[in-house]
Amino acid sequence: MTPRLSMQSAYETFLNAACARLGYSASMKSLLSLAALEIKVEIPIVRDNGELAIFSGYRVQHQGARGPCKGGLRYHPNVDMEEVRELASLMTMKTALVNIPLGGGKGGIDCDPHKLSVRELETLTRKFIKRIHREIGPNSDIMAPDVGTDARVMGWIHSEYSAIYGHSPAAVTGKPLALGGSVGREKATGHGIGIAIREYATRYGKPLKGATVAIEGFGNVGLHAAQALCELGMKIIAVSDSRSAVYREDGVDLDALIKRKKERGLLCEANDLDALKPAQLLELDCDYLLPAALGNVITAENAPRVAARIIVEGANGPVTSDADRTLKERGVVIVPDILANAGGVIVSYFEWVQNLQREVWPPEKVDSELARILGKAAHDVFDHADATGLDLRSAAFDIAVSRVKEALDATGF
Ligand code: NAD
Repeated sequence: MTPRLSMQSAYETFLNAACARLGYSASMKSLLSLAALEIKVEIPIVRDNGELAIFSGYRVQHQGARGPCKGGLRYHPNVDMEEVRELASLMTMKTALVNIPLGGGKGGIDCDPHKLSVRELETLTRKFIKRIHREIGPNSDIMAPDVGTDARVMGWIHSEYSAIYGHSPAAVTGKPLALGGSVGREKATGHGIGIAIREYATRYGKPLKGATVAIEGFGNVGLHAAQALCELGMKIIAVSDSRSAVYREDGVDLDALIKRKKERGLLCEANDLDALKPAQLLELDCDYLLPAALGNVITAENAPRVAARIIVEGANGPVTSDADRTLKERGVVIVPDILANAGGVIVSYFEWVQNLQREVWPPEKVDSELARILGKAAHDVFDHADATGLDLRSAAFDIAVSRVKEALDATGF
């Protein structure tokens, strides 16, 4: 059983601290904390074996003052309203930090996509959209892939939504290229992690070549981040997925791992020489630790044993608030999720813009615009941290929270 993904206390703790530093009233703090709209629907489907199964689908629109709500759709057995609400709040802060004209949303269905057939998954996705289509769309709430979903699922959403409203590619991002997806979206989050690390290392004079990295999670984010970090000359010494992990002091063979994962669904067998227990990866001695799987994996319990010098949050909310405090006291630098993994939502924004304008951008434009927007956000955070002495997460939250408040104030009450 994977850990409960709640990060409510972490998000609330970071938000409360930012509001206190910025001198905001209790009612403004509540407004920044509460979701604007929460939807829960029950979705019955007939399984391939003829049995009826009922899943719960969720969508939360946290804040739309800066633009339509934007955020992923997660398929995972642990999904519930609390988790989706928390992830939606984080999206509001992420879009504000990177200063794109979007708000924050998130959704999910409490299913295990690995235990459903393609037909069952498609039926579930289409029924979910049939139930909530009035609340989503290019000007209100735009979905994207997250844990357990991918371009194929986004394609079904596009098809179902367009069947009701006419061709509407801007209603969902992360679609297949054939349906108006953007070049570069699939690798965007991992690629963005490479940009965030490069900017951090350059700014603070840390060597990249040969710097050691351990990566938890080998899905969309972990795999593409591994490729981006290899291109920077960094040495990936360990990677894990939910079932297996591999460690090699002199660097893993990334291409071989990708091939093995694709062919056998595993990074390595338990008795392989390089095998490691997935949980051990978080405590490896390395320069950079990249949690890129689920939330709440670095806790008060294991934080004292984290041996990495720098944690880069590829996942959303991988560090609890207690662990955050412990790591800070120990001098471990954390590049926060709302900066580190924002590459995905930035390229989703490009996809939305291309769809609205009926344009197709070339890869060079996507890459250079991503580097420009994410690079600017990173240096905004570094500048604020350097000027105030705050850690990077606190600096990032101060910038994001104040931008959301500015928009709320401007809309009037
Ligand atoms: P994914 O479903 O593609 O991959 C998740 C990976 O995590 C899989 O390899 C899975 O095996 C692994 N995993 C699960 N439990 C694990 C465990 N206990 N130990 C080690 N590995 C484990 O999901 P993804 O899209 O890569 O998302 C990963 C994280 O990044 C999530 O927190 C998500 O919210 C966040 N994120 C994703 C995007 C995106 O564009 N996909 C953008 C921003 C943030």
